Amino acid sequence: DCAVELQQLSKKFIDNKDFLAVNNINLQITAGEFFSLLGPSGCGKTTTLRMIAGFETPTSGEIFIHGEPMSHCLPFHRRVNTVFQNYALFPHLTVAQNVAFGLEMENRPRREIQNRVAEVLVQVQLTGMEKRYPRQLSGGQQQRVALARALIKQPAVLLFDEPLGALDLKLRKEMQLELKRMQQRLGITFIYVTHDQEEALTMSDRIAVMHQGRVLQVGTPVEIYENPTSRFVADFIGETNFLIGRVIKRHLDTVTVLVDEQLPVCVSYEDEIALNSIVTLFVRPEKVAIFPANSNESLQGKVEETVYIGTDTRYIVRLTEQSCIIVRSQNLHYSDLHKFNSGDTVKVKLPPDSIRILTEV
Ligand code: ADP
Ligand code: MG
Repeated sequence: DCAVELQQLSKKFIDNKDFLAVNNINLQITAGEFFSLLGPSGCGKTTTLRMIAGFETPTSGEIFIHGEPMSHCLPFHRRVNTVFQNYALFPHLTVAQNVAFGLEMENRPRREIQNRVAEVLVQVQLTGMEKRYPRQLSGGQQQRVALARALIKQPAVLLFDEPLGALDLKLRKEMQLELKRMQQRLGITFIYVTHDQEEALTMSDRIAVMHQGRVLQVGTPVEIYENPTSRFVADFIGETNFLIGRVIKRHLDTVTVLVDEQLPVCVSYEDEIALNSIVTLFVRPEKVAIFPANSNESLQGKVEETVYIGTDTRYIVRLTEQSCIIVRSQNLHYSDLHKFNSGDTVKVKLPPDSIRILTEV
């Protein structure tokens, strides 16, 4: 069941040198899904969300909400509701008054409003808090008031534009998890805009990674993190190593790539690939293992930098004149700390099934 479908959606800002803020986007968002639009500032996330809400008119393309085309549907009539940054609760209104606001504006009968407010407060588990003011609530409770306010008119889809952007890290992480849990409980479709890759990975069922008005890749957090299909996505999501090399051998499901014409690296790879083609290898720092110089791993390097980050230690290891590799090694035991220091010769291991080949260089 498709909640929102974007077909060849584009937005050109005429007053901005015909700038294509959104460039031919196609997406299908499933009902009940937590779907994120992720990308750097200026890539077109907000513009896309505003077109879904009806605040911005597409230059071309069509938006469907539960199968119905939206081109002639006013924002007010769309079954969507937008939740803004910091939730913008009215400080001088109680929880119940904040939640009732949307229906009060429509002059609905008092009885109906009261019933509806009670219903949504049950949904977001805030029963008993009706008479409190926002300042008397925790951050998580305020978030639930904002949700209740957005749910009061029974939208099919809730839209969020970086709602947690202004919070400090610890509170933001708590609110992320709580919002995700609420979404699962409610079973409502969420479209969530963020530039924070960790936030998108934590919360989403699926993510669309955007860059310069386009969608580069759509997938689950695992697909996006483990199998990025472009250098941009690999680089934007998390920390990444890129090594450039030449394909020198193919044997069954493995390919050997000679990095910087010196280091042979084995990669699990099942697709066709031409011998001698130049490729980019991509491997996450936490997938690389680091060993003492006397171990019998084949790749040797020299530690250039060691940074202790609590749970992990992050090493930069020089492999060749041209290339370094970042290694993140978990500090499982106290003895793991300070194992390797700057200047030490070490061995590194790149597991063949953790390396991806990107054919763009
Ligand atoms: P994001 O939310 O991903 O940061 P936006 O959708 O806000 O990106 O903006 C995408 C691009 O469109 C930006 O380059 C921005 O400057 C431009 N833009 C956004 N709104 C307008 C507007 N009303 N008029 C002209 N240019 C705009
Ligand atoms: Mg934005």
